[in-house]
Amino acid sequence: MKIAVLSRNRRLYSTRRIVEAGQKRGHEVYVFDTLKCYMDIATMKPGIYYKGERLDGFHAVIPRIGASITGYGLAVLRQFEMMGVFPLNESVAIGRARDKLRSSQLLSRKGVGLPNTGFAHDIENAHDLIRLVGGAPVVVKLLEGTQGKGVVLAETKKAAESVIDAFQELKADFVVQEFIKEAGGSDVRCFVIGDKVVAAMTRQAREGEFRSNLHRGGTATVTKLTPAERSTALKAAKSMGLNVAGVDILRSNRGPLVMEVNSSPGLEGIEGATKKDIASMMIEFIERHGEPNKTRTRGKG
Ligand code: ADP
Ligand code: MG
Repeated sequence: MKIAVLSRNRRLYSTRRIVEAGQKRGHEVYVFDTLKCYMDIATMKPGIYYKGERLDGFHAVIPRIGASITGYGLAVLRQFEMMGVFPLNESVAIGRARDKLRSSQLLSRKGVGLPNTGFAHDIENAHDLIRLVGGAPVVVKLLEGTQGKGVVLAETKKAAESVIDAFQELKADFVVQEFIKEAGGSDVRCFVIGDKVVAAMTRQAREGEFRSNLHRGGTATVTKLTPAERSTALKAAKSMGLNVAGVDILRSNRGPLVMEVNSSPGLEGIEGATKKDIASMMIEFIERHGEPNKTRTRGKG
């Protein structure tokens, strides 16, 4: 098959691994810098161009779209979809997962466990949110944050109010969330492909830190999931309509709670911790579902 990978940087671990796995399995794999693709949308024959050439004959596209370029990246991916190319993850599914409000609403409607979370726009309401999610301690999160950067633990009501005031002053969108203390500074990343959790790891925050992000010095170890965790992860990915997802779960006293669903989950941490060849599993999924002339699996719109 001829496979396109949308990625800003071909040297990234995940991109390199996908290319390597695709080639090893006998496919032609091309990496395109998402922001350098341009499109012809107003004709009967939608096209995508790259460095002066029209991209034709692709059977599948693997989107690796960073949060900062979601809008344009999804437009490029949609264009591939309009041309009949099979997307490993569909643009509409990635759009759902990227929007934290929309995804929380979808997950809660499907009965997936979530930490109590409040959203507000006005400052007066924001203060009442602390009470709504059960009072301090709370976690206040910037909606735009990644790698744990915009995530603050406020131990007291006073601290929470100050953080909310500061975020509001900066005109940043945020959520107020119940703090899951019993998670003990760790969370579980479940890597979902199709209807299977193919790998899982626990990430443990370093001493004195509650955020388990590997970028913040957290450490990853392979973990065994409970049946409830497994089904929660699958349900979360399915609710978004994602074929490939990294579902982050907090282990709480009332069972697994989903923190977020990542639509371009990184491979480095999970392959390192589990020693599994996840890149090849992604390619195999495309072989099974994206083959020309085969019926396509499509998420609901
Ligand atoms: P980011 O998208 O920046 O990674 P997260 O929402 O994933 O932000 O939060 C970063 C880390 O902080 C999580 O991996 C988890 O370890 C910790 N954390 C986040 N929310 C909570 C919470 N409500 N209770 C306990 N720990 C949390
Ligand atoms: Mg996270």
